[in-house]
Amino acid sequence: MSDLRVRFAPSPTGYLHIGGARTALFNYLLAKKQAGTFVLRIEDTDVARSTQESVDAILHAMEWLGLSCDEGPYYQSERFDLYRQKVEQLLQQGKAYRCYCSQAELDAKREAAMQAGRKPKYDGTCRNRTDQPDAPYVIRFKLPEDKTETTFVDKIKGSISIRHEELDDLIIARSDGTPTYNLVVVIDDAEMGISLVIRGDDHINNTPRQILLYEALGYPAPEFAHVPMILGTDKKRLSKRHGATSVMAYQQMGYLPEALVNYLVRLGWSFGDEEIFSMDDLIEKFSLDNVGKSAGVFNPEKLLWLNSHYIKTGDPLRLAELLKPFLQEKGVEWQQGPDLVAVVKSLQERAATLVEMAEGAAFYFIDDVIYEEKAQRKFLKPEQKPLFERLIAELEQCPEFTEELLEQSFARVMESTGLKFGKVAQPLRVALTGGTASPSIYEVLQVLGKDRALQRIRKVLLTL
Ligand code: GLU
Repeated sequence: MSDLRVRFAPSPTGYLHIGGARTALFNYLLAKKQAGTFVLRIEDTDVARSTQESVDAILHAMEWLGLSCDEGPYYQSERFDLYRQKVEQLLQQGKAYRCYCSQAELDAKREAAMQAGRKPKYDGTCRNRTDQPDAPYVIRFKLPEDKTETTFVDKIKGSISIRHEELDDLIIARSDGTPTYNLVVVIDDAEMGISLVIRGDDHINNTPRQILLYEALGYPAPEFAHVPMILGTDKKRLSKRHGATSVMAYQQMGYLPEALVNYLVRLGWSFGDEEIFSMDDLIEKFSLDNVGKSAGVFNPEKLLWLNSHYIKTGDPLRLAELLKPFLQEKGVEWQQGPDLVAVVKSLQERAATLVEMAEGAAFYFIDDVIYEEKAQRKFLKPEQKPLFERLIAELEQCPEFTEELLEQSFARVMESTGLKFGKVAQPLRVALTGGTASPSIYEVLQVLGKDRALQRIRKVLLTL
């Protein structure tokens, strides 16, 4: 174990977003690569917006992606005592104070500042107040006056400074007593010994405030690495308008987790011009040095391309397992029919997703073949009767449906009917599958097996 301790800290207010998944992945990879510890912390202090359903959805999506944590999940909602204690400490040290300004007063001041062209920020009315009226209050962190700016060196973005005149006295506890994000994230990252915070760059503006809180609480600050956002093709922040943003929506659309992992990591990180990375490759090769400074654009076609790569090269046995729910969904009874693994093998080259594979697989299991109208009109005509009769005769004789023996049977059919390969294969394909596009005719015959194939051809013959 090295000293590296990283964390993923999602707020359970919805599903796991593509962007969050990438942040989790970067943390996971670095921890694995450096034999560090990957901590998972559920940031559920916002009781009104946090739900158990979201927690479950996030955990499920991480499990699906293979991002197991080494520690946690910790829940912030179980740590309120610690936060209260730290707020009390800051109050006692004079580093925080009670602010009794009402929302109406704050709104009026804000309005006035805007009108005067000043940046609206809290004016410090309650900073030096000594009385404690019997009225609701929030607790604010006193912006330290002993320095004028805060600087940190981000491991991705470089040196970042913020002048304190840009900041004001941050609310660290709401009027109902609940602590706010910037305070609890600091307490937890410090108490959990996090040495490097890797997160989305939407938090970069919070970092100087958090550094000030580390100092005030007497904690050493961790290092920071802010990962650029993911954008849609229109260069706006990725949202539902650009398509699915939930990790599990991709699972439902028939994507494999390794494709999504590979895609997400490349969105913002590169390793020469390599495109294909297994999780093991990534653990070996990933480093923050090759994470870009600018935002990545989400490209659904590339994700689809990667998915088809992983389907083509995937283990048929595993793919067969993964395919079952998709077949179920389509009402295809795969339990009775050709061997599912053989079905998968015949479709791996042709399907970009498991949804497509399930669509392509359906015909194998439906003996009452549903013929596409156009294909039926064109290929299943009375003139084809002699062809089908020949095919039946030859295939009945074929001792085993190996590619070689099937080729020989076909050669004999072609010779006796004088038809070219396509003129034999295409009507047969329609008879067996119902359509004109399918895996190779030999594969279809092999996977269906002799009995099933012959039964389907005989049935067609009856209709001619
Ligand atoms: N709960 C915060 C979020 O989901 C985490 C921010 C952080 O990583 O510090 O945005």
